[in-house]
Amino acid sequence: LNRRLAEFGTTIFAEMSALALQTGSINLGQGFPDTDGPEEIREAAVRALRDGRGNQYPPGPGVPELRTAISAHQERRYGLSYDPDTEVLVTAGATEAIAAALLALVEPGDEVVALEPYYDSYAACIAMAGGTRVPVTLRPYEGSFRLDLDELRAAVTDRTRLLLINTPHNPTGTVLTREELTAIAELAVERDLLVVTDEVYEHLVFDEAEHVPLATLPGMRERTVSIGSAGKTFSFTGWKVGWVTAAPGLVNAVRSAKQYLTYVASGPFQYAVAEALALPDSYFTAFRDDMLAKRDLLATGLTEAGFAVFRPAGTYFITTDIRPLGEKDGFAFCRALPERAGVVAIPNAVFYDHREAGAPFVRFAFCKKTGVLEEAVRRLKTLA
Ligand code: PMP
Ligand code: GLN
Repeated sequence: LNRRLAEFGTTIFAEMSALALQTGSINLGQGFPDTDGPEEIREAAVRALRDGRGNQYPPGPGVPELRTAISAHQERRYGLSYDPDTEVLVTAGATEAIAAALLALVEPGDEVVALEPYYDSYAACIAMAGGTRVPVTLRPYEGSFRLDLDELRAAVTDRTRLLLINTPHNPTGTVLTREELTAIAELAVERDLLVVTDEVYEHLVFDEAEHVPLATLPGMRERTVSIGSAGKTFSFTGWKVGWVTAAPGLVNAVRSAKQYLTYVASGPFQYAVAEALALPDSYFTAFRDDMLAKRDLLATGLTEAGFAVFRPAGTYFITTDIRPLGEKDGFAFCRALPERAGVVAIPNAVFYDHREAGAPFVRFAFCKKTGVLEEAVRRLKTLA
């Protein structure tokens, strides 16, 4: 393994899912739903396979039906208009979108400012692109993790090439407010930065929180690469269908890298996801309401089990603080948890450069059946 990748090892998600299997534990670690997405969309995939749509290499930018559906979704939900031919790119999941965007836009030596904790692939992809990551730590404040805008401004230097934003945010569940995003946008314009914004949890936003796509803010459309995922929005994480929307020059750049990563992917599934994006609003509302009920169930259960809970405004993750349980090291806690309670969780420290800042935090996924969450809570209550 070369020096760029040496520090990364095996992703925590693979490690923890393997541990869950080995120990027969309930897996609240890796974020994947235990219920597949809509039946009619699975049927659409079967039809595409059977009718011979997408069984051979689809077009490089994605099948036209899906690009049109992505564009229509952005228009309908956010009033953002993207030309399906020049401003939309289908990728092998959001993971490839992130990789291709960073490989295409970062020069060796460039600095990439990212929110910390960060989704693990960000760090590895910045490294593969030869960039340097500059983390800006979200700090616990009154029950949630907040961005310090002064710290963000201070992180930008003459070598900064782009800001890598994620809202709703994995693993903290923070949804950046319109004010915070406006400040980020002003900074990007003032310092002439590109922004890559990972909005894969755009439909999982709860209570009073609102998902504001960064590209909707003044001056941002032309400098923002926005990333979405059918895995997250329609509960088909195995299909690996994601997308990028951006101005033509940026989409071209990302496509240049994408061509040499996978070339294309997920042929038949692209047709099915096109149908999924056209589902009525009731699908998106029901999906959100279902996850909201699960959030409340798990948040209450974790609180009763003695964790300090950061109630997430978005995503399907809950970050907890284990110190009230008399613990301080999330890694040790998560390694012992299967044995102690038959549950798997993720130590947030893996998402930090400043490991000590993340040490006492542990993430639980709640995209699981109600009965599974109830059983997990029952088990976790034996810890106290
Ligand atoms: N970004 C974030 C913040 C995620 O949590 C994930 C995990 N699903 C991804 C990107 C990757 O998405 P995909 O499965 O579509 O590759
Ligand atoms: N995004 C998922 C999570 O945060 C995991 C995806 C993966 O395993 N790469 O849990």
